[in-house]
This record gives sequence, structure tokens and C-alpha cells, in this order.
Amino acid sequence: MLAIGVGLARVVLGKGLVKELGLEYQHTIASAVSLSGIGLHTGVPVTLRLTPAPARTGIVFKRTDLDNFPIEALERNVARVAYATSLMKKGVLISTTEHLLSALSAARVDNVFAELDNLELPIADGSALPFIKMIAQAGLKRQRAWRTFARILKPVEVVEGAKRIAVHPAETFRVTYRIVFPHPLIGEQSLEFTPGRGNYETEIAPARTFGFYDEVEKLRKSGLIQGGSLENAVVLTRDGVLNPEGVRFPDEFCRHKILDLIGDLALLGHPLIGHVVAERAGHAMHAALVDKLLRSKDAWELVNSAELEPKKPRPEVPALATQQPA
Ligand SMILES: [Zn+2]
Repeated sequence: MLAIGVGLARVVLGKGLVKELGLEYQHTIASAVSLSGIGLHTGVPVTLRLTPAPARTGIVFKRTDLDNFPIEALERNVARVAYATSLMKKGVLISTTEHLLSALSAARVDNVFAELDNLELPIADGSALPFIKMIAQAGLKRQRAWRTFARILKPVEVVEGAKRIAVHPAETFRVTYRIVFPHPLIGEQSLEFTPGRGNYETEIAPARTFGFYDEVEKLRKSGLIQGGSLENAVVLTRDGVLNPEGVRFPDEFCRHKILDLIGDLALLGHPLIGHVVAERAGHAMHAALVDKLLRSKDAWELVNSAELEPKKPRPEVPALATQQPA
């Protein structure tokens, strides 16, 4: 299995496919798009507007209600990671960034301004699908700069009791997530996802935020989930869900964890080439891994698409064609 995995990865990073996947150059969006809604935790009304940004800008939030104050979507600006990933710079806050960052990362948008007229992103339906639709509506625009990847050279791990997250060297980016909740609808769920092979738009983006009915009061009292409702979250009761429409996938919970992780990993500032393995993790563990990576300079290197060409001639594509996931 390992050999097959390595072979597949080589195909993904083969020059032809790098070109095919549009990974070679940086991208921004082709036109401005906006989405209005309310924040999950603050409940405040907000409009998010995505606008094109020059090459090498990265993802930069702007508070249009505060003279366009900019906050880069980078780990150094991470403020809080309980229940959502918030960024703060000089006392200015942007809350619940992870679902938009996940969609931008999956859609390979390297450079964009994300303008907000309030302190929290719209939660929309609790998934990343509305953001994927926004990006699709805007279109992508290729830019004259190479994408630069962070390639993992040796494993980096963060362990906290039963929670664990690690990244291992691999020839492409992939994620394995395992969650355990003592609930009849969850129990133990695990899933592996490889962007570019698996379909983020249909398999990951639609998975919604979830929470437990038992915790609703406690969270409300501590000032969280003020905008939370069955329109934007899956609420688990003792033996089922409150939402009349049920779940979108039997393992929607694990899929949402992968969605969050992809968003939080964007705070590294470069797309990752490595295999991330998370167990019972959450925003705090995701952020701890990014933080540890940034402090472990010998564990990774920056490479651009041109340097990712395989050293051997084209790999054996026909033999690998049967290895597409179901
Ligand atoms: Zn989430």
C-alpha cells in the first residue's frame, strides 16, 4: 500500500499534473464577490467581500469598519482557538476564520483580501460550501509568481493527553482524522482525504459545524454561539440530532474536523506537502502544530512547483489508474 501511495503522490506532483491542477502559479480571484450573514459566536450581522490581491500578498483580512485595518491570516496573529480560530493584531479581532480559510486553501487561492465590516465572519450554513460557491462565482486568476510549498522533511508531533496531531513527510498533502465521541451517531469515525484526488467541494465542504445540546446553555452563558441555530450547526441530542433534516453524511462530524484542519493549516502561510494525522484534535491542537512547525525550521523546507518535478521520467500512470478512491 505504501509503495502505491508513494507512486500516486509522484503522479500528483509530476510536472504535467502540477500544470493540469493549476498548482504551478499563484492564483487570486478574478472578480470581487460578497456574502452577508451573521457571526456564529457574536451573532452580529456582517458582510464579507473577497477582492483580488497581488501575487505574494497571501490571505489578508481587512476590517472595513476600522479604516481597513489589515490582519494577515498567519499563525503569528492567532488569538484564540477555543471553539473557533480567531485572529488578533493590535487589539483588533477577526473571529471564526477557519471555514473561509479552508475553502480558499482547497480552491488554491493564494492571494486575496477578505474584507469584513464587523468582527466575525458570516457562519452561513455552518459549512464551507457557501465560501466555495463564492470563489467559484468570482473565478480564479493566474498570477506571475510560483506557488511556494512547505515540504515536510521530518515528523513533527504535538501530544496532549489522548489528543494527538502530527505531520509526516509525504509526496503530496493529505489528511487523516480520527474522532471519538461517546454518542450513538459518532462513536469512532476516521477518514483520510487527499485534496486534488478526493473532491473537497462534494466530500468535505458541505460538512457542518456541530455541537452538543447539553453544552448549548453553558456556551451561551459564556458569550459563545450567540448566532447559533439549526440553520448553521448540527446539534446533537443524547441519541440523535435536533436538526429536522438530519445529517448530510453519516460521518459529517469527522468530515467537518478535516474542513477545520485544512483551514487552520492555512495559517502556516504556505500550502503543505506532508501527511497530517490528527486524533481527537481541535482548533487548539491544529494551531499548536502550526506553531511547532514554525519553530522547527529543520523539519521542513520551502520549495516551488518547478522544484517538484520528479527526477525520474514519467511514472507508470496506467498501473495507478485503478487506485482512485471510491
Ligand atoms: Zn468548524
